[in-house]
Amino acid sequence: MAITRARSVPAYAGQAYAITDHTFDVVVVGAGGAGLRATVGCSQAGLRTACISKVFPTRSHTVAAQGGVAASLGNMGKDTWQWHMYDTVKGSDWLGDQDAIEYLVRNAPAAVYELEHWGVPFSRTESGKIYQRPFGGMTTEFGEGPPAQRTCAAADRTGHAMLHTLYGQALRYNTEFFIEYFAIDLIMDEDGACRGVIALKLDDGTLHRFRSQQTILATGGYGRAYFSATSAHTCTGDGGGMVL
Ligand SMILES: Cc1cc2nc3c(=O)[nH]c(=O)nc-3n(C[C@H](O)[C@H](O)[C@H](O)COP(=O)(O)OP(=O)(O)OC[C@H]3O[C@@H](n4cnc5c(N)ncnc54)[C@H](O)[C@@H]3O)c2cc1C
Repeated sequence: MAITRARSVPAYAGQAYAITDHTFDVVVVGAGGAGLRATVGCSQAGLRTACISKVFPTRSHTVAAQGGVAASLGNMGKDTWQWHMYDTVKGSDWLGDQDAIEYLVRNAPAAVYELEHWGVPFSRTESGKIYQRPFGGMTTEFGEGPPAQRTCAAADRTGHAMLHTLYGQALRYNTEFFIEYFAIDLIMDEDGACRGVIALKLDDGTLHRFRSQQTILATGGYGRAYFSATSAHTCTGDGGGMVL
């Protein structure tokens, strides 16, 4: 006599799916520029940190960014964080979160120097300073002055240099990487707090439950939601979609 399993029980080859458990202080989902920086910071703070990525870290879309990273270093002429802030607020059509923008522009120089000290091979001026190129929308004197040269560049592969440098830094610490693991949902408790994620290991289809005190989502953009985009095919927004 054939014994059939109730349809609601998840099964494969007649068995319920096995779930492998992992427990960390912090789980970072994403290993692009944002995720790797968060991973380094958490590991530096002594937290047991896992970094989960659906692609190998150095294949994250950050690798494709060419032009550079904006910071008012003033290496090519006078520049201020206030002018950078004005351009950024204007560039967002006044829709951007101005507190976040202020934080970004005030901390951008320190972030660039941190990357420099960690090993990003920035291009240089004749006098050895970090080279900065002009980018669209970058002005001086709150839009009244000549264009600003604010974009710190490592030739035409700044993102590539940043991502590889950050991955190298992340490997200095005890971070555990879970590479080609696809986070498929958040684990929420009854109080609405996030307690980790469930992920699918892509090479063998096994399920993994990551429990954590903190979960950081750094899963990038969703450019591929549009018909035409220069974003990588991995930029599908599934990470952000888990929150909705
Ligand atoms: C062609 C191009 C050029 C650009 N040039 C510049 C530039 O010159 N200067 C600039 O400042 N910006 C530039 N940008 C924008 C910049 O590249 C991005 O904003 C930035 O790289 C995003 O970094 P991120 O870490 O947030 O995301 P990403 O680098 O996209 O990383 C996302 C990470 O999340 C992981 N992930 C996503 N979903 C899941 C999931 N469900 N489970 C597990 N892992 C998941 C991925 O594996 C990946 O590791 C450019 C963008 C494009 C498209």
